[in-house]
Amino acid sequence: MKAVQYRTVGSAPEVVEVPVPEPGPGQVLLKVTAAGLCHSDLAVMSWPQEQFPYPLPMTLGHEGVGTVAGLGSGVRGVAEGDEVAVYGPWGCGLCRACAEGRENSCPHAAGLGIMPPGLGRPGALAEYMVVDSPRHLVPLKGLDPAQAAPLTDAGLTPYHAIRASLPKLVPGSTAVVVGVGGLGHIAVQLLRALTPARVVALDVGKEKLELARAVGAHETLLSDGEAAARVRELTDGIGAEVVLDFVGAEATLALAAASVAVAGDVTVVGIGGGTLAVGFGGGLPFEVSVCAPYWGSRRELIEVLELARQGLVSSHIETYSIEDAPRAYERLHAGEVGGRAVVLPHG
Ligand code: NAD
Ligand code: ZN
Ligand code: ZN
Repeated sequence: MKAVQYRTVGSAPEVVEVPVPEPGPGQVLLKVTAAGLCHSDLAVMSWPQEQFPYPLPMTLGHEGVGTVAGLGSGVRGVAEGDEVAVYGPWGCGLCRACAEGRENSCPHAAGLGIMPPGLGRPGALAEYMVVDSPRHLVPLKGLDPAQAAPLTDAGLTPYHAIRASLPKLVPGSTAVVVGVGGLGHIAVQLLRALTPARVVALDVGKEKLELARAVGAHETLLSDGEAAARVRELTDGIGAEVVLDFVGAEATLALAAASVAVAGDVTVVGIGGGTLAVGFGGGLPFEVSVCAPYWGSRRELIEVLELARQGLVSSHIETYSIEDAPRAYERLHAGEVGGRAVVLPHG
């Protein structure tokens, strides 16, 4: 079968032929129907050899949707032909966090060598993939695979981040979304679906701001040196109750710190390498909470897919064949993708 692999540190991803995997005991084989390309893959492919944490070559893709094509011994609860989305941040399955469905917060996964597909384990950018347990599968129940794939990360991650700030997103409040790419364009929709907050979206690209408007942002601003002052103007000098940063660079964190209201939330989702000083006199207004969340819980993925079924969120996508996945990564790197790039491994 074809797979898109990151093979050696510093090289570009390649389309290669590899054997179709076999599901072992308890595992599920999926015929992949759609896989999303995340900016985190580009971050992974920029890490230096000394810090590289995963075995290579590695099949990329941590946003996967597929059709059940084979069951390892002992698997119950799913059947061949079921259409499912893959929950990616696998945990140990036994601890309290996992019992609550918060496998993204499992304290044992790293120690046990449990890694997400596409981030250490063979991922979804292939014709077939193996999932460790049927517990990681959520039925699509009629959702279009290409639409659903981005929801497993580009939808789930902002959903998890926004849910934590819901008490602050009351009528009259403002939420700022920095970076309207794969995650950001779904974040705007989630804010509109879940809260009465006014949504202000920021990006460096004009066409990104057009997408932000199209998916429900009330205001859009170019993310430049004036942006924080504009957010203050729009909020009568108060600032935004919640700033969600989907870039996470030094510049956007400085913008977040300058835009957030007293007692607001700064949520750093982007892994752009920036940091924010926290402490009295550290430059943040009083009582601001700062969080760098990771992905989301199983329960939250079930809920995000339900929002999509209800028509309250949808992925704006560009689709590619598996042969064109390297080109799609190049477009993502150049900031040219509108919404999410999704690969359809079987066309
Ligand atoms: P993307 O490339 O699709 O979108 C990023 C957007 O940010 C683009 O629209 C780009 O134009 C915009 N941008 C770049 N510089 C900017 C600036 N200075 N100000 C405003 N906008 C700017 O990326 P994505 O796949 O949506 O991922 C977003 C970030 O979230 C990445 O850093 C990714 O690695 C990270 N991520 C984190 C988690 C997590 O669990 N914390 C999960 C998924 C992705
Ligand atoms: Zn991701
Ligand atoms: Zn666990």
